[in-house]
Amino acid sequence: MTSDTSASLSISVTELTKTYGKVFALNRVSIDVKAGEFLTLLGPSGSGKTTLLMAIAGFNRPDSGRICFGDDDVTVLPPHKRGVGMVFQNYALFPHMSVFENVAFPLKLRKIPADEKRQRVTEALQTVQLSDFAEREIDQLSGGQRQRVALARAFVFGPKILLMDEPLSALDKKLREEMQIELKQLHRQLGVTTVYVTHDQREALTMSDRIAIIDHGELAQIGTPREIYNAPANHFVASFIGESSFFPLTKNKSGTLHYAGVSVGKVPNRATHENWTLVIRPERLSLHAPKTSKNTDKIYFSGKITELVYQGETAIVMMVMEDGHNLTARMNTRAGNDVDSLRVGQNLLVGIDKQDVIIIPGEAS
Ligand code: ADP
Ligand code: MG
Repeated sequence: MTSDTSASLSISVTELTKTYGKVFALNRVSIDVKAGEFLTLLGPSGSGKTTLLMAIAGFNRPDSGRICFGDDDVTVLPPHKRGVGMVFQNYALFPHMSVFENVAFPLKLRKIPADEKRQRVTEALQTVQLSDFAEREIDQLSGGQRQRVALARAFVFGPKILLMDEPLSALDKKLREEMQIELKQLHRQLGVTTVYVTHDQREALTMSDRIAIIDHGELAQIGTPREIYNAPANHFVASFIGESSFFPLTKNKSGTLHYAGVSVGKVPNRATHENWTLVIRPERLSLHAPKTSKNTDKIYFSGKITELVYQGETAIVMMVMEDGHNLTARMNTRAGNDVDSLRVGQNLLVGIDKQDVIIIPGEAS
């Protein structure tokens, strides 16, 4: 099978709202998924990810808003007419059927002739590396193998859209990480537009072309993994993706923002917020002796080490700033960083490149 993005469809979700009683499971969510894209819906449990995926699949009817596949409005089209492939967390395989029969099932529904059916199932099983397992029963398979069967069944009929709801969450960590890479490669191979649901930020960063972050039924931010990590839109996104320390900023009359007397940047153009927060990613820091000469591309704060945690490839250095705010640094343990010489109670100068400074609206909490 080769990549063929003409065989995939864009998805356009516009102002989608879905309520359950008084709960807004989705509140005016708009997301465009490009043809062939791998888009992940990321958010905590209960944020509305499954509700959105099920609306795209046609298993629930939104209160308002619109869903289009390419140019076609599918908002009220029943699921079996949407032609999407689906993979669920619990596999939803038929336990009394063989691997072959499970994968063949969507082709049987579509009345595909036997020869073609056999060829397509064989190809799909090759793609998920289960060629030798065609005649096995489902209960003779490991979790990872079952998930591969579910995957093969989802794409065997050549859907233009593939939807996956936490498909790896039942697997242990090592297998999950392997499957993340496999799924990414499979997506590249099939070229099918994919919407993937997870609550695991690292999984989202690993797999996605773009990530849509959902918070309480609303779209908090959408962007590439780099955009979201380097420029989180707000406190929720900054704390949900990656680790961060948050410092409150004060604004002077000219619109310059300060922390601990150090200017960290200006209020963004046209912004109207009163309060601003400095976000610092732990791996972007450098540690220096208090009297080190300063580099003009960096800004510096003074702190004292409160805790050191050695974790092999990196070490965590927890510090308290002069005003009592906490700051966490993650240092690579390579010899040049001199991490082994650090001591609790030591005073330090903490440096951060001006380019790595992140400023978000709102108060630090
Ligand atoms: P997620 O998949 O992000 O964990 P869901 O989409 O399952 O979130 O749920 C979003 C919200 O909608 C939650 O508050 C959940 O309790 C509610 N909800 C989802 N499905 C139903 C349902 N069938 N009936 C009532 N409430 C529901
Ligand atoms: Mg869910």
